Amino acid sequence: MEIAERFINYTKFDTQSADESETVPSTAKQLVFAKYLKEELEREGLKEVEMDEKGYIYATLPATTTKKVPTIGFIAHYDTALDASGANIKARIVKNYDGSDIQLNENMVSSPKQFPELLKHKGEDLIVTDGTTLLGADDKAGIAEIVQAMCYLRDHPEVEHGKIRIGFNPDEEIGRGAHHFDVEKFGCEWAYTMDGGDLGQLEYENFNAAGAKVHIKGLSVHPGYAKGRMVNASRLAIEFNRMLPQDEIPETTEGYEGFYHLLGIDSRCEEATLNYIIRDHDRDKFEKRKKMMENCVKTMNEKYGEGTVEMKMNDQYYNMKEKIDPNIHVIDLVVKAMQEAEVTPLVQPIRGGTDGAQLSFKGLPCPNIFAGGVNFHGPYEFVSIQVMEKAMQVIVNISRLTAGYND
Ligand SMILES: [Zn+2]
Repeated sequence: MEIAERFINYTKFDTQSADESETVPSTAKQLVFAKYLKEELEREGLKEVEMDEKGYIYATLPATTTKKVPTIGFIAHYDTALDASGANIKARIVKNYDGSDIQLNENMVSSPKQFPELLKHKGEDLIVTDGTTLLGADDKAGIAEIVQAMCYLRDHPEVEHGKIRIGFNPDEEIGRGAHHFDVEKFGCEWAYTMDGGDLGQLEYENFNAAGAKVHIKGLSVHPGYAKGRMVNASRLAIEFNRMLPQDEIPETTEGYEGFYHLLGIDSRCEEATLNYIIRDHDRDKFEKRKKMMENCVKTMNEKYGEGTVEMKMNDQYYNMKEKIDPNIHVIDLVVKAMQEAEVTPLVQPIRGGTDGAQLSFKGLPCPNIFAGGVNFHGPYEFVSIQVMEKAMQVIVNISRLTAGYND
């Protein structure tokens, strides 16, 4: 089977996850696809194919070498984002894309004027939507690439590689993909998520993240008779926010610049709550940002009386770089694998978190490699077949290069 056909088959399943759900997986329809995928892996001759009741799938491609080689893994998620419908996806191939507008349907055009990244894919075959749904290349392209690479290696036993494990999970889009991932059962020294964007992307740095809830106690008095007595929590909330660096916010930062983000304020005269998230790639700067929040609380309490402002702050996740740096061969291998596939590695910091970050802190170093999808999470999503083929080659190359890694 060709990679495009395999991928398009996957897109026919609605696998949207759901934020408010408390079940695992968050939607039962994800299990329908998981079962299909498990059967496909068995049909393709993979070994130790297992699916647990939560929809996590694990399988093995046995080693072709007798050398002692690290077991490595490849991971992708099969749920799709909540931002756009994932039902009745009608994927279509635009052959030999010529750089002009792509008519998705009567009323919708995917144009390089709006999405200049389309022009990077001139001459390639693009898979697009009919404009009413997302495509789900995030991350079914990753699954197709992994399965295709395993089939290639199965058919080419002359390529020496160690034991390869593959893992597919639900619920990444709601931040829970790693929660029930059985790192011990997976049994790899390191792994890669195939869940990045366009050709060449390689990510192993993400934010350190904390959340803070600031509560302000006011005193409500009739405004006509409030002199010297009223404490207006709403006003104090504004004052609190003003104490933070005004140019360190999501709207004014990029790259490695961290920020404080005011998610929302709920306020009256009597009381106010401010909700923040704090983000920074650098651990020291991250800790300083948290200290800054604490200092603001202290200053406010000195001014308005102890107990006026209280804060609950907790860490949410950390930068996986901390776990990758001591294992930098994990990155070196990808760079080499990409170069051999004639792909230029584009290392970028993630301005968010990933499942791989959580897995890295569960003991499985796990950088993220491009899967090829562009314009994620909406109807303009597309993926190039040639980029998917490159990703598949990168997987094959990593598998082969890992076998030589101890030499
Ligand atoms: Zn994804």
